[in-house]
Amino acid sequence: MYYGVDYYPEHWPRERWNVDAQLMQEAGINLVRMAEFAWALLEPQEGHYEFDWLDEAIDLLGQHGIVTILGTPTATPPAWLCTTYPEIMRVTRDRQRVTFGMRRQYCPGSETYRRLSAQIVRAMAEHYAHHQQVIGWQLDNEFGCHDSTRCYCESCQQRFQRWAEERYKTLDALNQAWGTVFWSHVYNAWDEIPLPWSTGGVANPCLELDFWRFSSDQIAEYQAL
Ligand SMILES: [Zn+2]
Repeated sequence: MYYGVDYYPEHWPRERWNVDAQLMQEAGINLVRMAEFAWALLEPQEGHYEFDWLDEAIDLLGQHGIVTILGTPTATPPAWLCTTYPEIMRVTRDRQRVTFGMRRQYCPGSETYRRLSAQIVRAMAEHYAHHQQVIGWQLDNEFGCHDSTRCYCESCQQRFQRWAEERYKTLDALNQAWGTVFWSHVYNAWDEIPLPWSTGGVANPCLELDFWRFSSDQIAEYQAL
């Protein structure tokens, strides 16, 4: 039976790691989860990976009978990434692009972010696939927390329009299902369909509901990647 905690060796000086491992061992802990927020250390520059520090932590913990679950670090895109690719930053309902300084700041539909996520995850998987002490993986961290499920950027709008077209096939069907005759919301072209941005009041509730469904699908797609 496993009894575990999350552990962030990168937050502590190396001379402390052995003390932590000893204390965890004495407490009966035999599993830690690590690295899910460590992208900046694992890939300090694009395409340049540094796993030595994590190898050392995993091996040290292993000597104390503690195995590891690794988290993919995609909940925390690092500063270099957000500076180089500002288009991956999520946009809020009032059409403000979030700035660097928190976590989960990414647009889950962004093709660029999906490519960069796949790169770091593949590099980690290739490095640790056969490591005896690594017994499992966590994908990302807390999908949706900090209200990060829904992104209101223009590329999400285009993907939402394609999603709606696949769902309803014709604009007549969409207009009927959404009741768009109300307040002259009738759409004559797919690219007229907005996201439920700040409207000065409420959005059409059918559009809002479908946007939530679309956003859920985007997260599920990202997780599958
Ligand atoms: Zn977006």
